[in-house]
Amino acid sequence: MQYYSTKDKHTKADFPQAVFQSLPPDNGLYMPEKLPRLEEAFIKKLGGFSFPEIAFRVASALLEEAISASRLREIIDEAVNFPAPAVPLGKDTYVLELFHGPSLAFKDFGARFMSRVMAYFLEQQTRPLDILVATSGDTGGAVALGFYDVPHIRVTILYPSGKVSPVQEQQLTTLGKNIRALEVKGSFDDCQRLVKQAFLDPELSKTLQLSSANSINIARLIPQTFYYFHAWAQLQQAGHTAPPVFSVPSGNFGNLTAGVMAWKMGLPVARFVASTNVNDEVPVYLRTGVFEPRPSLHTLSNAMDVGNPSNFARLLELLGGAEDMGGLLSGYSFTDEATREAIRSVFTQHGYVMCPHTAVAYLGLQEFRRESGTGNPGVFLSTAHPCKFPDVYETDMQPAIVLPEQLASLNGKQKQAVVMENDFSQLKEILLRG
Ligand SMILES: *Cc1c(COP(=O)(O)O)cnc(C)c1O
Repeated sequence: MQYYSTKDKHTKADFPQAVFQSLPPDNGLYMPEKLPRLEEAFIKKLGGFSFPEIAFRVASALLEEAISASRLREIIDEAVNFPAPAVPLGKDTYVLELFHGPSLAFKDFGARFMSRVMAYFLEQQTRPLDILVATSGDTGGAVALGFYDVPHIRVTILYPSGKVSPVQEQQLTTLGKNIRALEVKGSFDDCQRLVKQAFLDPELSKTLQLSSANSINIARLIPQTFYYFHAWAQLQQAGHTAPPVFSVPSGNFGNLTAGVMAWKMGLPVARFVASTNVNDEVPVYLRTGVFEPRPSLHTLSNAMDVGNPSNFARLLELLGGAEDMGGLLSGYSFTDEATREAIRSVFTQHGYVMCPHTAVAYLGLQEFRRESGTGNPGVFLSTAHPCKFPDVYETDMQPAIVLPEQLASLNGKQKQAVVMENDFSQLKEILLRG
């Protein structure tokens, strides 16, 4: 399978090139040249297959021969080693819980799969790969936990001192082994600047094999298609035959792009709902045909505070312009006030606590149902565990939030971070020391 750039169909790469470059040289995004359709007989009987088996079949179709079957199975068994249950919540409605991985957010799927794919391609090399990331909190946690103890790869994470939450700092700094945390006396922007400077430094790029764990890497998108198939498998098991509506809480639109890829591969889908907070460029585009990136606004669902979604080019590539998109995709945006009300109302009705991102997806599904009158089953994606947002919930809801094992096990672990000034020469020295 070849991958092409959304900016120019003639710019091509094979899978390992696309993975290690992340971005094509022309600054487009890599897309698979074709999306193979899975056998209809398999999709009809999806309910009979386990999550790892479904993941293996989907990945094999997408990767063709890039990774041998036996190794791909190993990679998937390691990467997809936590469940993604579709939990019923009222009539014909399911919340697809994608937060049971180590960082308690759906980004674990992408990070765990990408790290193991990279390690596989690095086996033939003597030089290790150095991953360098700046984080304001959440991405760093998923990357740190996703790459932890993966061979041939060292990870260096820069975070702004005093500006990440205590849990986030624990996730970044207590792992050790191949994960190194640098606590920078500066802001997140300073961290980003230092990382950018490192990538441009001739001596560093000569001495080290540097890479980013970029969120638009194609190896992150592939594993996100798995759970859409797995969701349909679970709905089949529950006796559903009508194709589902998927509501996806969206920021950079990677999650939704993966869903559309799954649909192109033959997954039955009645409709996708792009659910956003007030950063609503895509819902506006679907209404007006005009795409206007804007500076992002700060909201409760802050992992979706994106003013210029990076995967929009991929959605256009998959679905064409606004009119064609409208056949499959609806979009709605919601305020923080509506988000808080949804969290409250679902808790009152079902005793279920949603994180703010999940609440936006819930609202999107409700709105689509109201507008369309559809009787099809609905699945809204839950992208993070509510315990990551303790400030959002009033005291009566707190006891309903069960502290997961992943958090409990962080307690009492030793922080190991190298404190450094906001100074590139210091970063360079640390990196060259190895
Ligand atoms: C990253 C993230 C999102 C948005 O996902 P995209 O693929 O960027 O659209 C939603 N919820 C949570 C909790 C996230 O971390």
